Amino acid sequence: MTMAPTSPPPILLLPEELLIEIAAAKPQKSHAAQPPEWVLSHVCRRFRRVVTAARTLWTQVVVDLCSDSSTELFRLYLERSAACQMEVTLRAMNNDLEAPKGLQYLSPHVGRIARLTIAVNSHEVLDTVLASFRNVAMPSLQHLEISSKYDIDLVDNDLSPLQLRIIFSFKIACCTLSFPPPQWMVGLTHLDLRGYPYPAPENSGIFRRITKELPSLVYLYVDLSTVTFISGGGIVSQSLTHLDLELHESDEESEALSNELSSFNTPHLTHLGLHGTHGDQLSLLFNSTQPAQARFPAVSSLTFTHLDRPVVCTCEVEGSYRDHYKPIAAPLKLFPVVSSLTLVDECFTPRIVSDLLGHGSQPWPLLDVLALRPKPSEAEKLYTALQDVVRWKRSQQESL
Ligand SMILES: [Zn+2]
Repeated sequence: MTMAPTSPPPILLLPEELLIEIAAAKPQKSHAAQPPEWVLSHVCRRFRRVVTAARTLWTQVVVDLCSDSSTELFRLYLERSAACQMEVTLRAMNNDLEAPKGLQYLSPHVGRIARLTIAVNSHEVLDTVLASFRNVAMPSLQHLEISSKYDIDLVDNDLSPLQLRIIFSFKIACCTLSFPPPQWMVGLTHLDLRGYPYPAPENSGIFRRITKELPSLVYLYVDLSTVTFISGGGIVSQSLTHLDLELHESDEESEALSNELSSFNTPHLTHLGLHGTHGDQLSLLFNSTQPAQARFPAVSSLTFTHLDRPVVCTCEVEGSYRDHYKPIAAPLKLFPVVSSLTLVDECFTPRIVSDLLGHGSQPWPLLDVLALRPKPSEAEKLYTALQDVVRWKRSQQESL
């Protein structure tokens, strides 16, 4: 009896280019335990030869500086990526860590790092990690990110010995930024400040300083803790197109937000996100007639998020000190070209929707996207409000 020759499974016959494409098609920021290039390089001898020779597959690496196996893998990635530019994430989240591991492999490769993320939990560990980058040129670096679960005072001395040329994108969390900004920050186009340490008097007016002293900023996400931190005179930026402000203090005067925004002069802004807002603040903002001319002539995307999710917010309680909701009469005064509106967990969502779009509302021909996530307790009311919107739009021969 003769055996029919067995042909290998089709997957093993994949052309090399396709194999490389498959390995490269991982989602960005994937934290899978075993990335595809690693898995595929262990399937068979041919896969291993093809995948290990494809240098660009080894250019993104997340390293756990507390783990020997992870740092050994890091060494392999540095080797296999050869001279390609790299995206490196260095994590050391173990609070008891005395000395991060694996940093000795870094020095010959620092010059080709294009994106660097450092996530640590103590200033000491951050110091040790940053020491690997001191006095070494970093001509490829475009994006620097530093984050921590705890507040870390990032002082001038921490970053100034780094040989940073101008970088374009900087993200920090739980670290204080010092002003005036160092030279390498002046050309920043993207700045992301998350979890900014809690209100300190020296942080007051920081938003105005950022917009004034970083004249190339296009994208800004800043956690200001409180609305009053915006203040300090007019906010002028000719470059900003994308702005998100996170505001955590909820016990402020209802008028504070619209008062602060009335000092804005941001003619090229196309996205404005306000996170930590209340429905009553929104109503006052939409009704704001303070600036004679709209301060946001180009904003097409508008997002409001209520950061806590209480069933009933203080601003919804009748007679409460925040009970300042005013029916919205002319929403497009401040934002004449908004085409996308998003409300997330916002108090008064059904009422806002009725005021903006329901019976008797003004036409809003540019509105294209309306994204709503109400508090669960208000889902029913929102449904009723939306039915009213549909009826009203039909009666006006408009569509939603
Ligand atoms: Zn509220």
